Amino acid sequence: MSQDFYEILGVSRDASEDEIKEAYREKAREYHPDVSDDPDAEEKFKQAKKAKEVLTDEEKRQMYDQMGHERFEQAEKRGGAGGGGGRGGMGGDPFGGGAGGFDMQDIFDQFFGGGGRGGRGGNRRRQGQDLQTRLEIDLEEAYEGATKQLNVTRPEACDDCDGAGHPPGADSETCPECNGQGQTTQVQQTPMGRVQQTTTCRRCDGEGTLYDETCSTCRGNGVVQNDAILEVEIPAGIADGQTLRMEREGAPGEHGGPNGDLLIQVSVQDHPDFERDGDDLQHQQAISFPQAVFGDTITVPTLDGEVEVDVPSGTQSGEVFRLEGKGMPRLRRRGRGDLYVQVQVVTPDSLNAEQKEALEQFAEAGGEEVDVEEGFFEKLKNSL
Ligand SMILES: [Zn+2]
Ligand SMILES: [Zn+2]
Repeated sequence: MSQDFYEILGVSRDASEDEIKEAYREKAREYHPDVSDDPDAEEKFKQAKKAKEVLTDEEKRQMYDQMGHERFEQAEKRGGAGGGGGRGGMGGDPFGGGAGGFDMQDIFDQFFGGGGRGGRGGNRRRQGQDLQTRLEIDLEEAYEGATKQLNVTRPEACDDCDGAGHPPGADSETCPECNGQGQTTQVQQTPMGRVQQTTTCRRCDGEGTLYDETCSTCRGNGVVQNDAILEVEIPAGIADGQTLRMEREGAPGEHGGPNGDLLIQVSVQDHPDFERDGDDLQHQQAISFPQAVFGDTITVPTLDGEVEVDVPSGTQSGEVFRLEGKGMPRLRRRGRGDLYVQVQVVTPDSLNAEQKEALEQFAEAGGEEVDVEEGFFEKLKNSL
């Protein structure tokens, strides 16, 4: 009986590709037939090579993990996965899939409404789910970039049982339902003939093992909800509605798989002084009638402090002045947008007597007849 590939290489089931390659190099050095005295060296060398080939191929490794060693070997002998088969090497693969006979699963799914590839197979390493959250920042923070603290309540691997769902010392037995395979097989009659459907064992939830104790902290889930405080780097120039991805800060993976990611949707608050248009900003600036007429140097706010702007004589209300490079930084690029300052000539709603007289004279000097109506209280005052 041949040995489990992970055992052959002496690596854990969640070993990374690099770890597997490194383990293989070691075994290869040890058992290379040219150097080893071991009578079985050649066989061991071959096995290590085979184990490396399967475990460093993502697709084959998934199958291997799902099927278990024996079934994988058998399937391979029939010309399915890897080895002699392989991608496109089979010639007449009727299902057009890369992995030979295993695409039969798609047909099973059609008949049995299976939950797709993710739904079966107990002990497969699986990446945790991505989680989503929101973060609100103000325009200044979007301008400067910022480090923000983010409080999230998220599932994390239970500390007390290390995510296993049972205390480390719990007694265990092989699941009698699936004989430790983590999967059960049913034979069903379909229009295509008899087909076997393999599903995750319900009794042991695909673990292949039953434990006589359950972790009380996580009630056997292996996962608990924890509050976490994370530091998020907000890049300068981020726009409202953009999403930041914090890798591996999502839900924990299963069976040693990596965590999912945390997706942070950023919303940027409106600013009282500036309206944003992509990387550009717009600002409305009030000026007086004399400033518009004679021209003036006015002070305009920017996100980088106040600047002085020369308004030329004869400026019209609504005219726009462009301040180059005073807009938002471009996200992860060089340069900045511009700031567009639109001036609004303000019509005063109250004038003192002197201003009033001056303005009447101004109008008359221009040949204008202005019929100045007295207000009710002014009439009253004047009549006294
Ligand atoms: Zn079972
Ligand atoms: Zn636990």
